[in-house]
Amino acid sequence: MSEDCLFCKIVAGEIPSEQVASTDDVYAFRDINPAAPTHVLVIPKEHIASAADLGSRHGALVAEIFEVARRIAQNEGIGDAYRLVSNVGAGAGQSVFHLHFHVIGGRELSWPPG
Ligand code: 5GP
Ligand code: ZN
Repeated sequence: MSEDCLFCKIVAGEIPSEQVASTDDVYAFRDINPAAPTHVLVIPKEHIASAADLGSRHGALVAEIFEVARRIAQNEGIGDAYRLVSNVGAGAGQSVFHLHFHVIGGRELSWPPG
């Protein structure tokens, strides 16, 4: 756990969240400010600052994150059309520096994003 990391505190239960899924290594919860009818954040329980810090040693963890995301999308009824996105760096919109993948769906999604 990283001191002063919001999502580490959520994993530890120090800050409440609406859990959607939890495995040994991955936690998923609803975004507090949803951008779509379904907006879930899938995060590693271990503190990793962003996708730029991932390497080959994280292979199994990344696979699990994507499996959890797919399961959530299916459970939410958006398995055929959803967006899985991770912002890297403040300039790209990252505001919490604990790796997270947004699972977004349930409405028409345009491309390219802003
Ligand atoms: P980012 O901007 O880093 O890509 O995404 C961070 C996301 O975390 C945002 O969509 C924001 O709404 C969400 N978020 C920030 N603080 C909290 C919180 O305390 N609880 C929950 N559930 N989501 C949060
Ligand atoms: Zn953290």
